[in-house]
Amino acid sequence: MFWLLLFIVPVGAYNTTHSILHQTEQLCKHQHMTCTYHDEILVVDWNIHKPRNIVWNFNEHARELITGELALHMLYQLIEFNPSERITIIPVLNVWGRTKAFHRPCQRKNKNGIDINRNFWYNGNHKKYSKHSEEYQGYKSISEKESILLAKIIKDAKRYINIHSGEFSIYMPYDGSYERPDNYHVMNKNIHTYAKYCPQCQVGQAARTSLYRAFGTSVDWAIHQGVPEAYTFEIYGKNSFNCKEMFNPKETEPILKQWEKILKLTIN
Ligand SMILES: [Zn+2]
Repeated sequence: MFWLLLFIVPVGAYNTTHSILHQTEQLCKHQHMTCTYHDEILVVDWNIHKPRNIVWNFNEHARELITGELALHMLYQLIEFNPSERITIIPVLNVWGRTKAFHRPCQRKNKNGIDINRNFWYNGNHKKYSKHSEEYQGYKSISEKESILLAKIIKDAKRYINIHSGEFSIYMPYDGSYERPDNYHVMNKNIHTYAKYCPQCQVGQAARTSLYRAFGTSVDWAIHQGVPEAYTFEIYGKNSFNCKEMFNPKETEPILKQWEKILKLTIN
């Protein structure tokens, strides 16, 4: 029977959402790591006694399974690396969606059919997407439990990183406008520093560099709230008609290793 088991466990298999949360809870026995549940969403703080500083948010979009894998990988890394800074990690923001995405691989939005990363709109950064669109923004800004929690966490951040997949990119704001944000020069320098580990990445202001503008993203909202720095990392993408392949690599290890180096650079 042993030979059979070897075939059942594929190399580079993805963790279920339950497994990510369970492994994270185990890691939270470490003295520097604190886990707090907000409904089903787990928030991890490294050095919780220090003021809020760096925030890493993963798996806001359900089908971007690789981002939850990177979260878990980084939690193991933090224990090895032992940074002195406070880091707040949301390993899976869209818990309901990521769980669904295992049998519905194109699932992107939350349980209410709202794109969490379009739900942070404000005057001057608001587009009414169709209710059936994959970018539906909701009837009210910051209306979802996922966005309410994320807003509370990022409003006090010094540096906010929103981690997605679908392409290879390192973006600074804005996503929804061509204007230059405050702190343009600091962020522009940083994205080029981060990009040394991602030669295949597009690098720049999101609205200008990518082919589309995204309205009501959490990164734009953070900057609008006065957070000094905010970035979007798009960690993997492949041209495919198959959602699973488009957003998630078959071999996870090279992507995790690549972005581990970049996320470590975001701690300083
Ligand atoms: Zn995304």
